Amino acid sequence: MPATFSVDRNLFDEVMVPNYSPSAVIPVRGKGSRVWDQQDREYIDFAGGIAVNCLGHCHPALVTALQQQSEKIWHLSNVMTNEPALRLAKKLVDNTFAEKVFFANSGAESNEAAFKLARRWALEVHGEEKSQIIAFKQGFHGRTFFTVTVGGQTSYSDGFGPKPGDIAHAEYNNLDSLKALISDKTCAVVMEPLQGEGGIVSPTDEFVKGVRQLCDENNALLVFDEVQTGVGRLGELYAYMGLDVTPDILTTAKALGGGFPIGAMLTTTEIAKHLKIGTHGSTYGGNPLACAVAEAAFDTVNDAQLLAGVNEKAQQYVAGLNAINAKYQVFSEIRGKGLLIGAVLNDSYQGKAKDFLNAAMSEGLMVLVAGASIIRFAPSLVIPSEDISEGLARFEQAVASIVNQ
Ligand SMILES: *Cc1c(COP(=O)(O)O)cnc(C)c1O
Repeated sequence: MPATFSVDRNLFDEVMVPNYSPSAVIPVRGKGSRVWDQQDREYIDFAGGIAVNCLGHCHPALVTALQQQSEKIWHLSNVMTNEPALRLAKKLVDNTFAEKVFFANSGAESNEAAFKLARRWALEVHGEEKSQIIAFKQGFHGRTFFTVTVGGQTSYSDGFGPKPGDIAHAEYNNLDSLKALISDKTCAVVMEPLQGEGGIVSPTDEFVKGVRQLCDENNALLVFDEVQTGVGRLGELYAYMGLDVTPDILTTAKALGGGFPIGAMLTTTEIAKHLKIGTHGSTYGGNPLACAVAEAAFDTVNDAQLLAGVNEKAQQYVAGLNAINAKYQVFSEIRGKGLLIGAVLNDSYQGKAKDFLNAAMSEGLMVLVAGASIIRFAPSLVIPSEDISEGLARFEQAVASIVNQ
């Protein structure tokens, strides 16, 4: 049925709550790492739907899984279980430290489950006093009120009335600041094994191992928020695998569904047992459509060759960005790991990341920012080398347009 009104950017302002400010471009279809808008203009996608589209757009394995499941069963609720959820859970357990899985629909919901579980565990094993959650400044854990309060940016959590209590924030990559806060009253320390939204900040080896040790010394659980780093993004199935540190609880979402909403919390049997029957739940969590697509995405990404490819593609990005920088002197640093890359703007371009994003869009390239002064790249893990080259060429045009203006 053709709409009797035009579906354009103006309609957004008319009918949508104004919490976002989307681009004027409205993409209507995608294939691999290319996307086309309403005017059939083509873009190369270095954004990946914010580290979600790990296999690009409309990957055949995901399309097939969705189509096949869509003709079987769509939804049951957790009054009954379903085959796709159990298959996916089994694969998550077989391929990680975890022994138990809880399914949710997003990163925030997965973290919400993790934090509630940590509090339950502490209450039942150690008593009422042990309820402190320590997270890190600039960290991001989602937008529910609990998760946004655990997150390290008060600008996101202020203005909504009284916050959930007993949450403290230490400095990332600063063990002394964690030492100053942690005690036997701490029930969990929550960290991203590479801060994404906070500016593409990798933990030092000393820091991440030190956090694990402080958790052990204080009987606190270590929660890794792998919502952005998980499912191959950093060149390992999960980032913890490359850090030589195992968390007690791990959350995963974003790339888990390759574009279909799903999240999961993974943990051990010993900890999981504290979420007893009735203590937590979700109507859609473990939905068969979501789990069928996620299973196909997981099977595709959990492959040595694909993961090795992530590191090769990352090198192509870093070399290309360094070459652009040699010509135009706009970055102070190219950082990150695998295909989560940050190009940090130097002093001359502070606060201008959004301008680079807009200039890239004009050249037919989608990129992301991480804060006001970092351009972030989170492309498909299977982006073809030619698309990287072509996208970097477009990015160079965008950089030139800003430098020469
Ligand atoms: C995106 C993100 C979240 C929130 O995920 P949603 O699906 O938006 O709820 C949580 N943690 C990290 C590290 C993220 O990058």
